[in-house]
Amino acid sequence: MIINLRGVRGSIPVPGKDTVKYGGNTTCIEITTDEGDKIIIDGGSGIRPLGNELMKQLPVSCSIFITHTHWDHIQGLPFFLPLFVPGNNIDIYGSFDPVYMKDLKTILAQQMEYCYFPVRESELNANISYNNLKEGEAITVGSAIVTPLLINHPVLNFGYKVESNGKSFFFTGDYEPPLNIYEPEDEAYAEYQRLVDQQKKILTDFIQGVDVVVADCQYTRDEYPSKKGWGHGTHDSCIEMARDANLGALYFTHHDPTRTDQELDSIYDDVMSRSDLPPTKFFIAMEGTEIKL
Ligand SMILES: [Zn+2]
Ligand SMILES: [Zn+2]
Repeated sequence: MIINLRGVRGSIPVPGKDTVKYGGNTTCIEITTDEGDKIIIDGGSGIRPLGNELMKQLPVSCSIFITHTHWDHIQGLPFFLPLFVPGNNIDIYGSFDPVYMKDLKTILAQQMEYCYFPVRESELNANISYNNLKEGEAITVGSAIVTPLLINHPVLNFGYKVESNGKSFFFTGDYEPPLNIYEPEDEAYAEYQRLVDQQKKILTDFIQGVDVVVADCQYTRDEYPSKKGWGHGTHDSCIEMARDANLGALYFTHHDPTRTDQELDSIYDDVMSRSDLPPTKFFIAMEGTEIKL
């Protein structure tokens, strides 16, 4: 399969001279299997130029998996032109929101209400299916199997594993490793730590030996103490994940919108100078990167 990183930025698109190298579009990953099946993970602003490319070969048939419905992961969908064209077949997958009791279609349609957008969801002319996924429910897309795993973020967030022809890929979506909310001297600390360790092990087992992982590391280890609970990882938490799960390669993504190209380069140099790196290959995710598996 071929993995194309179409958007690697977190929070908000940041075009401009400081983001030319790594890119300013928000999250979108395109996966094409050896058989040509098209899987797209997340509909951040990176999905708009992808849609324009897909329009050159109609009809478009693709499956879009949404990690979660925070704006930076769905804001490009109303600009994804294949949705407007009759004859295209687009299956959209994601989770039901149990807090607001909204299904995926309702959430996506609401960002296309007239107060936000001039065209309503009901005016999209492609054949569109909306599918609320349950954790662990594997979906077959051509030769690929896509499996969601719930991982820690302030809303339900699915990490997706894509397996095809013996190769494997995983994207975390937005993910902060679970934290113990108690102090070590508190009575509840040990019990809570067991839960934290259990949650981490579920993810480690799920991605054990995966060839390529793209993982959220919006913050550096120096920034993280003031951002705890915001739902994002660090480069160091990703390195730990890579070590525990024996990953082949890991791409650091969901770059903070304030991060310049120069800063990302120096963060990479700093990370690569750690003395205890596992054998995993590490990269800074860059918009336009094509990974062949
Ligand atoms: Zn995000
Ligand atoms: Zn988020």
